[in-house]
Amino acid sequence: MEYMRYLALLAALCAAAFAQPPVGFDPSSLNRTVDPCVNFYQFACGGWQKANPRPADQGSWGSFDVLQDRNRIVLHNILESVSANKPGRTAIEQKIGDYFAACMDEKAIDARGLAALKVDLDSIAAIKNKPGVTDAVIHLYSIGSAPFFRFGSEPDAKDSTKIIAGVDQGGLALPDRDYYFRDDEKSIELRKKYVAHLQKTFELLGAPPTDAAKKAQVVMKIETTLAKGSLDRVERRDPNKIYHKLSVKELISLSPGFDWQKFFSAMGTPAFDSLDVSVPPFIRAMESAIVENNLDDLKTYLTWTLLTGARGNLPTAFEREFFDFFGRNLNGAKEMRARWKRCTDQVDGQLPDALGKMFVEKTLGEEGKQRTQQMVAALERALERDIKAVDWMTPKTKEEALVKLHAILNKVGNKAKWLDYNSVPISRDDALGNAARTSLFEFHRQLSKIGKPLDKTDWAMSQPTVNAYYDPQENDINFPAGILQPPFYDNKMDDAVNFGAIGAVIGHELTHGFDDQGRQFDAQGNLRDWWTKEDADAFKKRTQCFVDEYTGFIAVDNVHLKGDLTLGENTADNGGMRIAYMALMDTLAGKAPPKRDGFTAEQRFFLGWAQVWCTNQSDESARTQAQSNEHSTGQFRVNGVVENMPEFEKAFACKAGQPMVRRPACRVW
Ligand SMILES: [Zn+2]
Repeated sequence: MEYMRYLALLAALCAAAFAQPPVGFDPSSLNRTVDPCVNFYQFACGGWQKANPRPADQGSWGSFDVLQDRNRIVLHNILESVSANKPGRTAIEQKIGDYFAACMDEKAIDARGLAALKVDLDSIAAIKNKPGVTDAVIHLYSIGSAPFFRFGSEPDAKDSTKIIAGVDQGGLALPDRDYYFRDDEKSIELRKKYVAHLQKTFELLGAPPTDAAKKAQVVMKIETTLAKGSLDRVERRDPNKIYHKLSVKELISLSPGFDWQKFFSAMGTPAFDSLDVSVPPFIRAMESAIVENNLDDLKTYLTWTLLTGARGNLPTAFEREFFDFFGRNLNGAKEMRARWKRCTDQVDGQLPDALGKMFVEKTLGEEGKQRTQQMVAALERALERDIKAVDWMTPKTKEEALVKLHAILNKVGNKAKWLDYNSVPISRDDALGNAARTSLFEFHRQLSKIGKPLDKTDWAMSQPTVNAYYDPQENDINFPAGILQPPFYDNKMDDAVNFGAIGAVIGHELTHGFDDQGRQFDAQGNLRDWWTKEDADAFKKRTQCFVDEYTGFIAVDNVHLKGDLTLGENTADNGGMRIAYMALMDTLAGKAPPKRDGFTAEQRFFLGWAQVWCTNQSDESARTQAQSNEHSTGQFRVNGVVENMPEFEKAFACKAGQPMVRRPACRVW
C-alpha cells in the first residue's frame, strides 16, 4: 500500500440527495462570465459550484463525491434487500446483510454501551509490568487496533517477487507528524482542540474531568514522542528512506523493551529472519515511549488506541465526539453523515469482495469495460511515442523506460478472484465484533503472504470505489468498476470528453510509473536505479519547475500547496493530460468533428478534464488537504495543468501574458 499513488484523495465520504446523474460534460456547469484564459477552472466549474452546494455532512464536495454517492445508493439498495433475517439468503447475502443490520442497530449499540469493550479494556487494565505491554498490544492487534506501529506484509522493494514482513511507523491520530510540531497559530489551536477532544473521550469512558485532563496530556506526550521518530509525508515519498531490511535480531536491538518474538509468533506469521523496518528511528522513539513512561501512562495510551480502532461501532456519544474533532475541526463538515451512509461504507471497507461482487454484477457494462481497455491501449501508444520523442533523455534510459512501459499490467473494472469470507462469523447483534473479526481476517490474509510470491490478481481498492491507482512494486494500473462511469467515462459522450476525463485518468496512472517516485522502480517493480546520472539530473531539473509552480498556489488563507509533497501527483496530472491529448489526436486522425454545445473537440477535451475536478470545499478541508495530502486541490489540478499546455492556449485562443499561459511552461512528459 505504501507506494500506491491514489488519484483522488478522500476515501469517499458522502452526502445528501442527488438530483441529476453526472454526465461527462455539462454546459450548464460553466460560468461563461469568466474568461477561460483567466481562470479556466472557474469557467468550467462556476455553474457547477453554484448548483451543487456542499452538503452539511461534507467538508468537501466534488464530482467524485457525486459519483461515489450514486455508487453508495446502489450498494445501499443491495444491503437493504438482504439485511432482513429471511430464510433463503445466500452465504454472501447473510454476511453483508447481517453486518449492515448490526451496524445500523444504534439502539442496541447504545444499550450495550461500554460492556462491548469490557474484555478489551480489561486486557489493558490487567497489565502488571512493562513486559505486559506486549500482551496488550497483541490483544489489540487481534481486534483490529494498531497501537504504536503498523505491522503487515509487503513486496521486498529490492526483490518484488518476494513478500516480506514489514514494520512501519504508526500510532498517531493527527494526519501527519508535522501536526505535533508546527508553531503557527492555527496549528497550536488545533493541538489544543485535539487535547480537549482526548479529554472528553476519557470522560465518556468514566474518568473524572481532572483525571481525564491528565490522561489527555499523556496521550499527547506519547504521540509527540512517536512523532519525533516518524518521517513526514514528504520524506516518505522517497522509497529509499522507508526501506531498511534488518534481521529480527537487529529490530530487537532497536527496541528491546517490546517483545517482538512473542508478538510475531502471536500474530501467527510464517517464520522469517529478516524484515523491512521502514523507519528505524521510529522504533527507537517507540522504545523511548515504553521506557520513559510509567505503566499507567502506557495503559492510557493503549486505551486511546483501542477507542480509535473501534471507531464506527462505538456508542453514539463517542461517535459524536470523534466527529466533532475529525469531521468538524479537521474537515469542516457541519453534521455527521447519516448512519446508513457510514454503515454502507463500512461493509464496503470490511467485506469488499462480498459487496463488490454484487455491485459489479449490477453496474459494470461490457461496453464500458471494452472501451476503457481500448483507451488504455491508445494511451500506452501515446506514452511510448512521447518517451521516444523527449529531447532530454538519452537512448539508453529511453530503452529501459520503454521496457518498463511495455511491462505494465492493466487491470480494468473487475477482479480475477473474489475472496471467500466463509470463515468469518458475522452476527446480527455484534457490530463491534463483526468489525474486529473482518479486520483480523484481512490482517491474517496479508500476513499469510509472507514468504510467498507476489500475487498480482489482488487489489488494494474495493470495486465500487471511485478511484484508481498505480502500484510501482507490481508495475500495474488498476481501475475499479466504480470509476468507469460518468463523469469519467460516458457512453453518450464524444471521444474528446472521454479522453479528457477517463483518458487523462488512465494517462495519470501510467505516468505515475515515471514520476519522481515511480521512476525509481524498474519494469519488475524493483527499487533499482536504471537512469544515467545525466538523465536523472535532467529529470530533476524539470520536476523542480512543477515544485515551484505548485508551491506558488494558495489553497486557503496563507497556506500554500506543498510543491514537494504533491510533485508525483502533479507530474502525473500533467503527463496524463499530455498523452491523453496525443491519444485523442490519434483517434481523430486529422478530422475535425463538428462543434458540440458550441465547443470544438479540443475545447471539449479540456472541459472534460476540468469538470472531473469541480469542487466546493470548506476552508478546514482545504487546509488539511494542503498540509497532508499528496493531491493538489481541485482548482489547481485543473489550472496547474492547462497553463503548461500550448494545446490549451491554442484551443481557447489565449494570449501570452494571460494567467492561463505560463512561460516558461513546465514539462516532464
Ligand atoms: Zn495519482
